[in-house]
Amino acid sequence: MKRASACINGLARSSLHRSDKRWIIDTFHDETSRIIPVHNLTVLCDTTQESTAVYLAPKDFDAFSDLADSSIFLGFYDEIPYFAQDINTDQSALILSQKSHAAFNKLRSVIPLLDTRDGELLTLAGFMSYWHARNQYCGKCGTKTKSSNAGHVRICPNDSCKESYFPSMDPAVIMLISSGQRCLLGRKNEWRAGMYSTLAGFVEPGEKAEDAVVREIHEEVGIHVENVQYQNSQAWLFPGSLMLGFTAVAKEEQIILDTNELDDARWFTRQEIKSNPHILPHKVSIAYKLIMDWINGSEAK
Ligand SMILES: [Zn+2]
Repeated sequence: MKRASACINGLARSSLHRSDKRWIIDTFHDETSRIIPVHNLTVLCDTTQESTAVYLAPKDFDAFSDLADSSIFLGFYDEIPYFAQDINTDQSALILSQKSHAAFNKLRSVIPLLDTRDGELLTLAGFMSYWHARNQYCGKCGTKTKSSNAGHVRICPNDSCKESYFPSMDPAVIMLISSGQRCLLGRKNEWRAGMYSTLAGFVEPGEKAEDAVVREIHEEVGIHVENVQYQNSQAWLFPGSLMLGFTAVAKEEQIILDTNELDDARWFTRQEIKSNPHILPHKVSIAYKLIMDWINGSEAK
């Protein structure tokens, strides 16, 4: 089984296979395939090693009616085909009865503990399962929709409608604002105590990402910015955002805080952040990368 699509790293989605129903069914039953069971946004984890996912083989589903039709083909990771499979309460109990040292844990609580491969695969499996659950009915005519293209489309079967629904992410901007030797970080009430991070916000319909950076910063802290530069991006599947990372330079430093959005916002020097690393967001976040890139950047002294 060869990879059929390119990827920079990690998951090769091989999207060309999705419309080949025979290939999907054969691959779902191939003994090399691995299946990620998802039950109400919980995923199967090893109870002896907290941060390890448990993948199932096709034979683990022998007692079930054939699930290949409702499975979601995620792609290949290190040449191994991976599927997500939404299961009900009875099916999850059956799986647990066959697996010692395994438990279904809340996806949101295990994501930060997983390694890169498990994190990417389980997060995508959970997101796709959640997307299917939220798109059971056609938004245009109300008919119950059906999964298609190996779980990557939901189609309205009403002949006079035939609307298609595709999983997607909402674009959001996240930005490191600098002024001389300081950068601007803010905090929200719901974050852990003491944590500060880069400011962020959603891109509005019809808006360019660069314009969203300028608007969000002015709305949240009353500061005008210039030299808006795209850096990199990160998918943040819960709640389904594509985070577009930017840097920008402040034209002024006086902060006028929108207290509906933020609890606090302050200017930090590189040394202040280095001396207080506990204020930083999680290391897997794009916010952390934006801050560290600025700390280690060419202007650092
Ligand atoms: Zn419809």
